Amino acid sequence: MLVVMKNDATDDQVRAVIGEIERMGYRGVSMPGAQRTAVCIIGNQQPVDDSTLLAMDGVKETIRVTKPYKLVSRETQPESTVVNVGGVKIGGGEPVVMAGPCAVESEEQAMTIARFVKRCGVKIYRGGAFKPRTSPYSFQGMGIAGLQILDRVRKDTGLLIVTEATDSENLGVVEEYADIIQIGARNMQNYSLLRLAGHISKPVLLKRGFAATIEELLMAAEYVVTEGNGRVILCERGIRTFSDNTRNTLDLGAIPAIKGLSHLPIIVDPSHAAGRRDFVIPLAKGAIAAGSDGLIVEVHHDPAHALSDGAQSLYPAQFEELMKDVARLKRCLA
Ligand code: PEP
Ligand code: MN
Repeated sequence: MLVVMKNDATDDQVRAVIGEIERMGYRGVSMPGAQRTAVCIIGNQQPVDDSTLLAMDGVKETIRVTKPYKLVSRETQPESTVVNVGGVKIGGGEPVVMAGPCAVESEEQAMTIARFVKRCGVKIYRGGAFKPRTSPYSFQGMGIAGLQILDRVRKDTGLLIVTEATDSENLGVVEEYADIIQIGARNMQNYSLLRLAGHISKPVLLKRGFAATIEELLMAAEYVVTEGNGRVILCERGIRTFSDNTRNTLDLGAIPAIKGLSHLPIIVDPSHAAGRRDFVIPLAKGAIAAGSDGLIVEVHHDPAHALSDGAQSLYPAQFEELMKDVARLKRCLA
């Protein structure tokens, strides 16, 4: 339930409402908005009796939140969340492109690709140091040495870094080095990791599990937000279907659906959806046209020798083309 405060409600009145909610045995989370402040009641298993709350000073009305996710719901917060990472605004109306290799393979590789994507106008560099791989025999990532390379990339280029934490053991060290912490598709329902991510100081890029519904994705985001970290960016990266022409099926309908259901920003990963580089640009353009707040794209200076996901990594020239397409689309959609 949402307790909507009057436009002129004071901070003391908001605090009193939260106190009363706590007295009732629940948690009250203040959601300041452009028009008015609301207090979201969480932790109730049954409908809440709102009679005491409605009689309190500064309270305008109560609204039942019909969705099982509360804090990430647009019912609770009508204004879109803009996640500001070092001055780059995700969800602020301009699509943001994050790009880089699937994995950090060496300092030379990471730096070469970083300098290139920076020249193309990218502000956020991707690259995995801890890699969740289907096969235990595949390259597992460079681990902490990879994070240290990413740190040098940031110092050299000024790019912000998005990189994945694959478990609760490496979350802490990834937090030290990353500007955005990625939680991958395989971990979308790793609830202990999600809860821990709710306590970190960095934004979280939460990728949709390949067999997860939109409601399950939003419930996963709720785990992070309810623990205190409201800076969550969602990512559609393709789901598993019977269609066998791509690695996964990019669910573009998820973009307008999520925009309607949640105030969180949503970006698209066309690379893991496509699984092949010739499909990445068309899918990326479709994503921007469908209203995505950004893209996360794999690009490699030498995909033939990439240690992971070479087949879906764009060649540098293709990536330049994609950046031009994105700029053109931005102008068309403006
Ligand atoms: C990745 O982006 O590096 C990755 C492993 O993606 P996903 O979790 O979507 O498979
Ligand atoms: Mn990859």
